[in-house]
Amino acid sequence: MSSLKNIDLGTPTYRLALPSTKKEIKFRPFLVKEEKLLMQAIESKDEVAMIDALKKVCSQCIESKDVDVNKLATFDLEFIFMQLRAKSVGETAKIGLKCKKDDVVNEIEVDLGAIKVETGKGHTSTIKLTDTVGIEMKYPTYDDIKSITKTKGTDGVFNTIIASIKTIYNGDDVIDASTVSAEELKDFVERLTASQFKLVQKFFDTMPKLTSTVSYECKKCGTKNDQVLEGMASFF
Ligand SMILES: [Zn+2]
Repeated sequence: MSSLKNIDLGTPTYRLALPSTKKEIKFRPFLVKEEKLLMQAIESKDEVAMIDALKKVCSQCIESKDVDVNKLATFDLEFIFMQLRAKSVGETAKIGLKCKKDDVVNEIEVDLGAIKVETGKGHTSTIKLTDTVGIEMKYPTYDDIKSITKTKGTDGVFNTIIASIKTIYNGDDVIDASTVSAEELKDFVERLTASQFKLVQKFFDTMPKLTSTVSYECKKCGTKNDQVLEGMASFF
């Protein structure tokens, strides 16, 4: 007896280089089952459900064995997702952009394959607080963001920072943040001066993000617009 399960539907395999490590990973496009998952999440309008669907779809479509979507930095996962979308739904996406002169919304086709992950000027993951004290940061994962989404406001900002501290060094003494309680980390961050805190914020402001520059002439007034799109949300 032959089984439908064994019928080869000729699903192609693609490759991409993971932005943070440049490591090559293999993936297949979304199938109908994954598109269903995404549609349901979009309809729910729930941020946590969206993150879960995004992770699940990426995890199912990635064929390389050694990739754990739970551990990927947000920009790595977003990059994978956009590549997946490009290969599954279409290489371009239509988005509405406002002309800088008259605010008229222009419908523009964006090339999803041209989206890059770019790091801001002066970005560094080592933050020197004093001559001897500093913090080593790591990029937040979607799981970090997910727990933060539940506690919005100032606490949310603090939680993002706390979740992104890898180590704190004090001279030769290196303290692994995972061995310290969240309370203690929060207390440490609260003791920073305003200028030290700015350095921490700079880490987030300049951290790698999806970027693409779109050029178009406004259909109404003809003004030439060069718009920089940043972050996954700006491509939907
Ligand atoms: Zn215009």
